[in-house]
Amino acid sequence: MKTKAFHLVSLGCAKNTVDSDSMAQLLINDGYHLTETPAQAKVLIVNTCGFIGPAREESLRVLQELAAEKRPGQILVAAGCLTQRYGSEVVKQVPGIDGILGTRRWMDIVDLVQRLRKGKHPEPVYHLPDAPTVGSDEAGALRVSIQGASAYIKIADGCRRPCAFCAIPLIKGTAVSRPVNVILDEARTLRDMGMHEIILIAQDTTDYGHDLGMKDGLAQLLEQLAKVVPEVDWLRILYAYPGYVTDRLIDVMASTPNIVPYLDMPLQHAHPEMLRRMRRPANIDWVYKTLEKMRRAMPDLALRTTFIVGYPGETEQEFQVLLDFVREVQFDRLGAFQFSFEPGTTSEPLGDPIPADVKQERWQRLMELQQGISLQKNQSLVGKTLSVLVEGQGRVENNGAASVSPEKLTLGRSYRDAPEIDGMVLIEGELPVGEMVPVRITGAMAYDLTGVVDTARTVISLDRRQAP
Ligand code: SF4
Repeated sequence: MKTKAFHLVSLGCAKNTVDSDSMAQLLINDGYHLTETPAQAKVLIVNTCGFIGPAREESLRVLQELAAEKRPGQILVAAGCLTQRYGSEVVKQVPGIDGILGTRRWMDIVDLVQRLRKGKHPEPVYHLPDAPTVGSDEAGALRVSIQGASAYIKIADGCRRPCAFCAIPLIKGTAVSRPVNVILDEARTLRDMGMHEIILIAQDTTDYGHDLGMKDGLAQLLEQLAKVVPEVDWLRILYAYPGYVTDRLIDVMASTPNIVPYLDMPLQHAHPEMLRRMRRPANIDWVYKTLEKMRRAMPDLALRTTFIVGYPGETEQEFQVLLDFVREVQFDRLGAFQFSFEPGTTSEPLGDPIPADVKQERWQRLMELQQGISLQKNQSLVGKTLSVLVEGQGRVENNGAASVSPEKLTLGRSYRDAPEIDGMVLIEGELPVGEMVPVRITGAMAYDLTGVVDTARTVISLDRRQAP
């Protein structure tokens, strides 16, 4: 065990990944080094997720495994959303935790570790100061997370939306935007590090700047980013909130070469009554009109959304309306969750009446419908050439329509794929990780594409404004 080594497990969403990387930066600035081997670390940290039931179970399991393997002298810190929400409950379920750090004070990780290293602590040390929101985010650590030639920038944290099923506002507090100039500086740093892609994340990116006196803050931020880092091929936004994708935002996306025509807008349902019960924007006409406007402005737009099935009171008829909506809109990417009962949220009094097997059956029907839609959309790309960001080498059993020998295979993403949640492009041959290459699509699977390097084209010539 090395006295200045730490091991960090990051769970949950990309926003949590940024917090993990920022905590790691602060520890490294304090002379620590990261180790992948828990046994070698003096400090073990789990940045937990507390969003929904399955995520909580995973966080507890990882903590219990590390606690069971803990050696004398090692320190175990539980951080993140689960601890922010359930503090002492977590300790009850995981004996062996030495320190508890809430997600709102991730920047205090070095102080907490120093306290834990000083003297004996018969009881776990709690660091859950009563912070109304996520603290000032500028704690001497970049608020970014880098994976290869792609990076997330967290532009805000917390949320002020009233969604009945969601615990995020309970965990993180209201939405706090980060200063524009700091985000622009981080983007310059990432450009200088050779990033091809910068992904803007928050709980609700379309709410960016509301607390900075900005109108259409996200559109303004994107305009400035595109000017500051024109060399970055892909600027991508995730987590847009229905009702806040404005005409100005659409114009900026459509007219700016390096903003990818990709929008992730969780809708959660499509039946107005159900949306009202979820306390979500229920104006479905707005959704139709806005998607139509976006597709007119960006014919190659890739649309992603997320739905919840099995919310209390959901009838078969309401679920059918959701299926019909998905069949009609034809999303490129779709994620679905089964309703998770969340104590403390406004949906709590409704309980969890929809039986688990009914939720599962509805989830299955929705994903099967989307699988067919996704395959058709992928098939329409066969023969076209796309820019692909190379992310690694791999092997795949070609049980799809693929015509690729598994020997030399490269994995990458096109502008239609956000990391970790969308599909991949499987390319014949071995290509350098971090490169952007023109790939002619030769085959389609339900979620992934296959292809070969298009030697007749260059990435530049593939500027996304030109029809592929
Ligand atoms: S927009 Fe709604 S679902 Fe998303 S984080 Fe905020 S409260 Fe939760």
